[in-house]
Amino acid sequence: MGPSEKPTPDLNKVSDEALLDIFAAPISPHACNVSVGVVLPLKPTLMSEEESNKHGASSGGSLDCLPIEVLHLTMELLDLKSLFHLLCTSWRVRAVVEALPAYRSLVTHAPEALAALTQTDLVAGRSAEAMYAQLRSAECVACGNYGPFLHLTGCRRYCITCLSTDVGLRLMTFPQASVCFGVSHKDLRTLPVMHGVPGRGGRRVKGPKLVCVKDAHQLGLRTHGSEAEMSVVVHEQHASKLAAYFRRRNASTGGRIRRPMSPDLLSVIDNDPFDGCASVQFPSVNSQGQKQNGVWCLRCRALFDQFRKHEGLPQYDEYGEYAENFVCLMEIAAIAWSNEEFPEHVRSAHSAAATGDKDVSQKDSSE
Ligand SMILES: [Zn+2]
Ligand SMILES: [Zn+2]
Repeated sequence: MGPSEKPTPDLNKVSDEALLDIFAAPISPHACNVSVGVVLPLKPTLMSEEESNKHGASSGGSLDCLPIEVLHLTMELLDLKSLFHLLCTSWRVRAVVEALPAYRSLVTHAPEALAALTQTDLVAGRSAEAMYAQLRSAECVACGNYGPFLHLTGCRRYCITCLSTDVGLRLMTFPQASVCFGVSHKDLRTLPVMHGVPGRGGRRVKGPKLVCVKDAHQLGLRTHGSEAEMSVVVHEQHASKLAAYFRRRNASTGGRIRRPMSPDLLSVIDNDPFDGCASVQFPSVNSQGQKQNGVWCLRCRALFDQFRKHEGLPQYDEYGEYAENFVCLMEIAAIAWSNEEFPEHVRSAHSAAATGDKDVSQKDSSE
C-alpha cells in the first residue's frame, strides 16, 4: 500500500486476537535501541508436597511447632536474602518457604529478576511481598503506562520511556555520587548498592559499586539540608580539588596527574557505561494468575521509522497533532501495551490502516 492510497477502516471488525497477531511484537530488550540488562533465569526449585514429604526426616526444628499460617505471616516480614538462607536450613522449611504465595509467584513468573537481584547483591532488604506487589501491578510507577521493566535498586516497575529519559534512574559509581552530591562513601553504603551489573551469562559482570542517581541525590539533600546548600558544598569541594590539581600540575616534572571529576557530570548524558544496566524485563501477573510481558505496536514503530527516514507520513492522519512532532512520535512508538489494552489502542490510533497492509503486518526481521 502506498502512502497516497487511503486504506479501509475495518479494524472494528477484527478480533482482539487477530489484532495482537498482526500488529503486536513481543517486548524485546533491544526493540527500542535501549539496552536493558539480560540475565538467564534461575532454575525454579519448587517442590511438590509429595517431594517434600519424601524428605520428611529433615526436620524444621522448633519451627515445626508453628502452624504454616503463622510461619507464612512471619516469612512475609523477611527480605529475600533471609528467605534464601531459610531455604537451605532443611527440606521441610524449604517446602514452607516455597509454598509462600509471594515467593512461589516470583520464582515461577520472574526468575530473571530474582537472578539479577541475587547477582548484584540487592536481595538484602528486598521483601518478597514488595516484589510480589510489583508483579501484580502492570503500570509504570512514574507515568502509568504499561511498565515491562523492573528497576533493580528500587524494585519498582517502569516503562522504557521513563527508564531512558529520567536521569535519576541511572546508575553512578561511589566517586561520582560523592563528587555530585557531597556525600561520603560510608553514607552511600546505607543506600541500595548494586555490586556489578547483571550479565548475559547469568553471572554478575564484575564492576564498581553502583547506586541509583535518585537515591544518591536524596542522600545529598538529607546531608546538606537543601538543594542550594548542597550545591554550595559540592562546588566549594570541587574548587578546592581543582586548586590542588593545578598546584600539583605546576610543580610536576612528569607523570600523570588526574583532573578532578566535575560535579556537573550528570548533564553529560552520552557515553553512560551503565545505561540500561539497572533494569531487567519484568512480567506482570493479572488477578487470574496469567503472566504477560506486554507488547510493542508494530504500526507505531513503522510510522516512526518512516518519519525518521524523512519519508513523511501517510496522507491519512493517524496521530493528528502528534504527527508533526518527532519526539512525540518516538515516545508513542516506545509505549508498551498490555495484551488487554492493545486492541483498543490499535482501533483508536490506527483505524485508518488496513489489516492486510504488508508494511504494517510484516514483523521486523531485526527482532
Ligand atoms: Zn513510564
Ligand atoms: Zn500503535
